[in-house]
Amino acid sequence: MRGRSARAVKQRLESLALAGVTILPKPTGTTGAATVDRPEPTASTPAAGSGGSHVQVGAGGDGGRALDLIRAEVAECRRCEALACARRNTVFGSGSPAARLCFLGEAPGADEDASGLPFVGRAGQLLTKIIEACTLSRDEVYILNVLKCRPPDNRQPLPEEVANCREYFERQLLAIGPEFICCLGTTAAQALLETAEPIGRLRGRWFTHGRAQVICTYHPSYLLRNPGAKRHVWDDMQLLMARMGVGP
Ligand code: SF4
Repeated sequence: MRGRSARAVKQRLESLALAGVTILPKPTGTTGAATVDRPEPTASTPAAGSGGSHVQVGAGGDGGRALDLIRAEVAECRRCEALACARRNTVFGSGSPAARLCFLGEAPGADEDASGLPFVGRAGQLLTKIIEACTLSRDEVYILNVLKCRPPDNRQPLPEEVANCREYFERQLLAIGPEFICCLGTTAAQALLETAEPIGRLRGRWFTHGRAQVICTYHPSYLLRNPGAKRHVWDDMQLLMARMGVGP
């Protein structure tokens, strides 16, 4: 038994090292962090005039079927004409339709545009390591982006593009009904929480979105450019794991 737990600790430390985490802060438990209360969502329906399907979701709904219907709408979407013309694939999202935890990123990059899958490039590989360091797997969480189409040259999404695509990520979240949402980076955090606060001030605090508890942290792409920020992400993941009741 002791040998098995020693092996588990060793594997975990190797996973953390792969994710670039070299310092393990003391567990802190939950904090008296700020909370932003938001209106309770009602149902997952297309925006007025969007012409999409009505999908009943939420508690007791069929999240997988709802996601399939939204995915089909996204595949045909041309609201952002420039993005729709340039894309190779829409990138809808992947993971469990019954996930307790959703990771919300910014937009697809070149690798994601080519594959149609979210977070498969270098940043995606780092996100996978972060998820595994939290003792979870990509199959048991759900990963999605604010935008479903790649912005040219990986530029930041424009406000009108976020507004165009908001309906889709909001409906995805309603279909899944996660207990927790982790926003990755400024664009995701500001879009979900509808705030202009920078990520540096949003991270390390708890918010709510509908019934989900929300935490924000740095985007894995930022960590690739700024490895020193990995310890802050690990601090945020410690908060998340403590609330989720997962981890070592
Ligand atoms: S980014 Fe979203 S709203 Fe814009 S064209 Fe793609 S799917 Fe449609």
